[in-house]
Amino acid sequence: MSFDTSTLYLFATMVASMLGAMLLLFGRQESIPALKWWGTAYLLGAASVALWTIGGPALGAPVLLGLHAVGFAACGMVWNASRIFHGRKPNLPGLVLGPIAWIGAVTTVEDPALRLIIGAAIVAIYAALTAAELWSERRRAMQKRWPAIVVPVVHGCALMIPILIGALLRPHDENFASSFWVTLFAIELVLYAIGTVFVIFMMVSDRAVAVHKTAASIDPLSGMLNRRGFSEACARVIEREATAGRPVTVMIFDIDHFKSINDRFGHPAGDEILKLFSAVVVNNLRISDLSGRIGGEEFAALLPCSLEEGVLVAERVREAFESSNIVCEEGAVDTTVSIGVAGGPAGTELEVLLASADTALYQAKRGGRNRVEAAEELPLSLENWRRKTAGLPASARHKPVTA
Ligand code: GH3
Ligand code: MG
Ligand code: MG
Repeated sequence: MSFDTSTLYLFATMVASMLGAMLLLFGRQESIPALKWWGTAYLLGAASVALWTIGGPALGAPVLLGLHAVGFAACGMVWNASRIFHGRKPNLPGLVLGPIAWIGAVTTVEDPALRLIIGAAIVAIYAALTAAELWSERRRAMQKRWPAIVVPVVHGCALMIPILIGALLRPHDENFASSFWVTLFAIELVLYAIGTVFVIFMMVSDRAVAVHKTAASIDPLSGMLNRRGFSEACARVIEREATAGRPVTVMIFDIDHFKSINDRFGHPAGDEILKLFSAVVVNNLRISDLSGRIGGEEFAALLPCSLEEGVLVAERVREAFESSNIVCEEGAVDTTVSIGVAGGPAGTELEVLLASADTALYQAKRGGRNRVEAAEELPLSLENWRRKTAGLPASARHKPVTA
């Protein structure tokens, strides 16, 4: 079976244009600028390849030069699309540099072999930049990321072929139509167009999953991790610290008499105090510490440090919150917090630490509030802890935090 090359090319460029239009429409519908760039790059690339292969030298040197420049610009746009997808600005000088370098090469270099090398180099550089951009985003799920790197690299290599064909074989030579390379390039073009769309949608879906996961783990009022997000993040930190053999410390913060703040100053003012407290917590913790809002006016933190160091941090948070000096129309707001701290050796379960910190918090409340209490011992098991606290009145008992 033999293919008619012109038909094959027409098919390749049609597939690329259809995919380009699809990316463009999807990008517009979902407001994803990177997809609009990708789509436009596809359409431009397909149009220029179609015109320069079908028209050939009959188009005249200036038109061919322009079409080649558009082809290079399309490669640059694919690179910029991957930049935009990762939240970076498009690099416009980089985008026009490729086409300008090609025009410069054609107007100054006589030797076709040298032109060929320059053209191939431009395409290879854009493909390498695209792959590098995708590679730098490999943090998560690398096993799923490999097509995102392999596809542009393979294509970068394959794209050098049309430059080869354009310079070595005249499109209207009798060998041209049956050339193995022309056929191979057309097939590669189709596979690349489909492969890239597959990669793009894989990344878009990865992104959507990540966005939803983040939204499900964040408390909208304070912007901190919510109970679920905090538990998940803690599990990872505890595992990491256990591997390194380091201790961890957990603290639970409960704002004092928060109900009366709401009652006196109103619910919106209460919300502002919650935001203020979350800022106090975040500002007094290190970047390696975790914190979250685990209930209405209850917050928690996990620090990769000893109990003694943890108590110092808790004391710092307590003092900072107390000295907030918030004054409303109705008068000064008492901003105090009670804190329970519990530390454990490497690998202690989060639930055990939280239950112990909760007992210490209860002691802090009972001891007069606005104070830090450290847990004397870790409960041997959650069951013991539940039995011990079962006799306490419900209002005085803090439930252990569970994921
Ligand atoms: P204590 O010193 O014993 O901790 O007393 P408290 O008043 O802080 O404790 P209590 O558990 O009785 O009251 C907590 C209050 O927090 C009750 C609830 O209405 C309020 N609250 C919970 N979530 C929010 C919120 O998102 N915004 C505001 N403004 N209030 C909230
Ligand atoms: Mg409470
Ligand atoms: Mg409270």
